[in-house]
Amino acid sequence: MTPQTYNAYYNPSNNEIVLPAAMFIVPGVPDSLLDDAVIYSYAGASTIGHEMTHGFDDQGRQYDEKGNLSDWWTKHDEEKFNERTKLMVEQFDNYVVLDSMHINGRATLGENIADLGGLVIGFDAFKQTDQYKEGKVINGLTPSQRFWLGYAYSWLGHSRPEALAQQVLTDVHSPNFLRVNGPLSDIKNFYEAFGIEEGQPMWRQPDKRVKIW
Ligand SMILES: [Zn+2]
Repeated sequence: MTPQTYNAYYNPSNNEIVLPAAMFIVPGVPDSLLDDAVIYSYAGASTIGHEMTHGFDDQGRQYDEKGNLSDWWTKHDEEKFNERTKLMVEQFDNYVVLDSMHINGRATLGENIADLGGLVIGFDAFKQTDQYKEGKVINGLTPSQRFWLGYAYSWLGHSRPEALAQQVLTDVHSPNFLRVNGPLSDIKNFYEAFGIEEGQPMWRQPDKRVKIW
């Protein structure tokens, strides 16, 4: 990838993460206007945390620290991991787009795990910042609220129905809006930040919320 390429990847064989410079720009917004909440979610959670988590998703976890395919997990950890990720497969299998097309929870699992793990890591990192500790409200939004909105902003976009249909059938990434609504509805702090209550669209029953780490 070139520095200006807007992408990132994790390569398990090399135990390598690559983050081109372009991933750290918010298009159309000068750096001076970005607060830590937005940076830690827009770039931190959705890219750095996401790629780190690929090393421990359903595929990446099968590679050891030298990039070789070898089973280095304990049986107990493997069983727990499979139990928890099964819940995530069900979560995404149940999302329907374009009236009748279900997301393929199994095919998108690695990316969905990486999104959730990236958010958990990104939020943990954000908690270390002065902005989070001071709790200062900016434009009426708390630091936590700005973090979750910054993440949503990173996936802002539009697709034509035809492109969305093709994506659901062929792409291992869930559609953008589900890369936001899916993992956020699993995370406790998101509920607390916005006071989400039962009956609201983003609410998931507590026993259906996925928590892997
Ligand atoms: Zn990914």
